[in-house]
Amino acid sequence: LDRLDRALGLIASIPDYPEPGVVFRDLTPLFADADAFVATVDALIEPFQGRFDAVAGLEARGFLLAGAIAVRAGSGLVPIRKQGKLPRATESQSYELEYGSATIEAHRGDLDPGCRVLLVDDVLATGGTLGAAVRVADRLEWDVVGAAVVLELDALGGRDVVGGIAPALDIRSL
Ligand code: IMP
Repeated sequence: LDRLDRALGLIASIPDYPEPGVVFRDLTPLFADADAFVATVDALIEPFQGRFDAVAGLEARGFLLAGAIAVRAGSGLVPIRKQGKLPRATESQSYELEYGSATIEAHRGDLDPGCRVLLVDDVLATGGTLGAAVRVADRLEWDVVGAAVVLELDALGGRDVVGGIAPALDIRSL
């Protein structure tokens, strides 16, 4: 097994969490393993190496990956947060959840317009979160070079949802 395969093999599948019928993918064993975490972070960076000035991490597990990516790749970092957590002026975007809706936002002015940004999260599921992040990035006039996630749950169609918002977005999953 190579390092990345071993790392991905540490991801746990938890049936009926957070509700019956859902299989939750738990990445905490991967984060807990030093070699697995480094292999994962390096694999997320690799397709975009040298092409981004900042990484934008999606709350909350995207923050863990983004911090490591920023240090490893020598880039800046910005958080894309759930509504109400950022103290200065923001751009925000709401999106639909199975029950209700959610809003995410990022600070205006942390990055300059035209800044080359890599979006990062742990899991791409229905695509609602990443799609909203793309819209926030667009309003902030970031130059989004791509999106990197560890796991993509193909059956949920997230890639197509995000593609409907940003057809040219380069989405990579490990
Ligand atoms: P989406 O908006 O449906 O694509 O869901 C993606 C967001 O929900 C990401 O921020 C993930 O962290 C989280 N998420 C959805 N499903 C899972 C899972 O099975 N494990 C961990 N996080 C998940």
